[in-house]
Amino acid sequence: MTSDISRRRIIQTIGAAAAWGSGLAGTATVLAGDTRPEKPKRVLRIAHLSDIHIQPERNAAKGLTACLHHVQGHKDRPDMILTGGDLVMDSLGADEARTRAQWDLFRSVMRAECSLAVEHCLGNHDVWGLDRKASRTTGNEPLYGKKWAMEVLGLERPYRAFSRAGWRFIVLDSTFPKGSGYIGRLDETQFEWLQDELARTDAKTPVLVVSHIPILAAAAFLDGNREESGDWQVPAAWMHIDLRRIKDLFARHPNVKVCLSGHLHLVDRVDYCGVTYLCDGAVCAAWWNGPYQECEPGYALVDLYADGTFERQYVTFGWKPAKV
Ligand SMILES: [Zn+2]
Repeated sequence: MTSDISRRRIIQTIGAAAAWGSGLAGTATVLAGDTRPEKPKRVLRIAHLSDIHIQPERNAAKGLTACLHHVQGHKDRPDMILTGGDLVMDSLGADEARTRAQWDLFRSVMRAECSLAVEHCLGNHDVWGLDRKASRTTGNEPLYGKKWAMEVLGLERPYRAFSRAGWRFIVLDSTFPKGSGYIGRLDETQFEWLQDELARTDAKTPVLVVSHIPILAAAAFLDGNREESGDWQVPAAWMHIDLRRIKDLFARHPNVKVCLSGHLHLVDRVDYCGVTYLCDGAVCAAWWNGPYQECEPGYALVDLYADGTFERQYVTFGWKPAKV
């Protein structure tokens, strides 16, 4: 039996002989068995803007404008923007007029201040009327639920996939309505779609997943002071309750490289079973009232490379809250 090591030696010897024969010995010729990494090629730079929470108050429109100018002002400018959900302050418990005011504001700032391509992801606060009492909805309105946001953003479905620069992007819809609120999970139809989507994707194509609610996050332990109860409790509304089956699905597809999220307004990174889960803070931090815990108003710059690797940096844009 030829062991891997001896086989590698044989190949190295052949490689060395070939190099001698071609007169290239001593140059940069890479011999078989040489594992020196070559610098990967960056194929895409994304700005991930999560949790904008635009509203007529607290100078939020000016804050989003400042953020968009910052994103587009980089010398090494991002190729596109991915939003991470919670585009508006709240429509879950807002009436029709208030919801319209927030979406109108979001649309007008984006139209006026953003010249980059944008792909959107929905958050829980973008779902209109789930709290029927507070929003005075019946559930029969034509724009009830996710339809209003989908109409504004021009989306046919709240989840989807697309390709860019050799990567496959999967945008999930984390908000699973429950009672007058929600939890983080995929319904059966969406989970089956995700399974099919990953099965259809070439195993060599790196995959980036975006969800509003984190699939897995360390920061879920720090949002609120739940430990004061004497036990760690992470609500299903803070982190995907179907984490286990999603994690198992990703394990069958090693080309799933990175999952981006928001929702917690905190920044973290968890590497688990070959997948990196990044929670990317919040553009509005503490809902336009300054930093939220350690998280300043900001966004993530994510560089994607041809070999399936990536880099993330959290970028602040110096926003100071309005003095009210
Ligand atoms: Zn949020």
